Amino acid sequence: MAPLLEVRNLAKSFTVAPGMLGGKERRLQAVDDVSFTVEEGETLGLVGESGCGKSTTGRLILRLIEADHGDVLFRGQELLHLNNRQMRPLRRGMQMIFQDPYASLNPRMRIGEIVGEPLKIHGIAKGAALKDEVVRLLATVGLTAEHYHRYPHEFSGGQRQRVGIARALAVRPSLIIADEPVSALDLSIQAQVVNLMQDIQKEFGLTYVFIAHDLSVIEHISDRVAVMYLGRIVELASSESLYRAPRHPYSEALLNAVPIPDPSRKSGRVPLKGEVPSPINPPSGCHFHPRCPYAREICGKERPPLEDQGGGHLAACHFSEEVGKFRTF
Ligand code: SF4
Repeated sequence: MAPLLEVRNLAKSFTVAPGMLGGKERRLQAVDDVSFTVEEGETLGLVGESGCGKSTTGRLILRLIEADHGDVLFRGQELLHLNNRQMRPLRRGMQMIFQDPYASLNPRMRIGEIVGEPLKIHGIAKGAALKDEVVRLLATVGLTAEHYHRYPHEFSGGQRQRVGIARALAVRPSLIIADEPVSALDLSIQAQVVNLMQDIQKEFGLTYVFIAHDLSVIEHISDRVAVMYLGRIVELASSESLYRAPRHPYSEALLNAVPIPDPSRKSGRVPLKGEVPSPINPPSGCHFHPRCPYAREICGKERPPLEDQGGGHLAACHFSEEVGKFRTF
């Protein structure tokens, strides 16, 4: 059976205006030849530091921004060449949950109107049936009918994200792209929202692309994880395989940086050196080479292809068989 979502060679660059000191316009390659599939009912975690292109990838899939080239297939149907009228029925099947629930909810609308709006737009329900459905959706995400008439500012961050989830769920999508849905929340609330997302995934048979900058957040929810660095996927593997034995030095460094609650275990002794380089002028060859403890001459010259290292575990590294030497987790 075809995957629910297939992304092939997706690319997007942006023009960067000249700075205060003049100069030429430059191109920023935000997403560079990205390919992956997501099976029905699966959760793919998409992870990397800020500016790595993960959120842009999510927006390209939903066509909130347009790709330069590549293909996005949803249930086998190519999306990027469809016009607005052709896209409309497909949009119902794909929804997004945003990082900042406050910014994504209209402050002048009551919660009931916010959650019910997609039902109205798509002509799914009206009148009393609309209200009943909204109350049911609120209950699904752990809110009550009392919340129906309130405004977003009366809610906590966690509650607002529950409203965002109810709104996304309203049109019964099959795919949800969750763009850092818990990053703005307190740690204790993060787990509640992730648990809620797992519960509704089972209940509604949802497929997720779950975007995060922190590997620890997506460990338990992801079946597979794609790690991005400066616009490229550098590793893609089952969650189990990636967390147990990463095959790319960048993933290893991210895992080294995850805090471990047990003080008797070593952790974080090899911090990731340096900042993420500018995507306007990324390092040659393997983009990670200036920060990589395994780097050798070839790394600055040749881009390593994303290749199967065995058992469907993909990594883009000339020396992936050596990865593990600097591991502290
Ligand atoms: Fe490091 Fe070289 Fe592998 Fe890139 S290709 S991750 S620089 S060892």
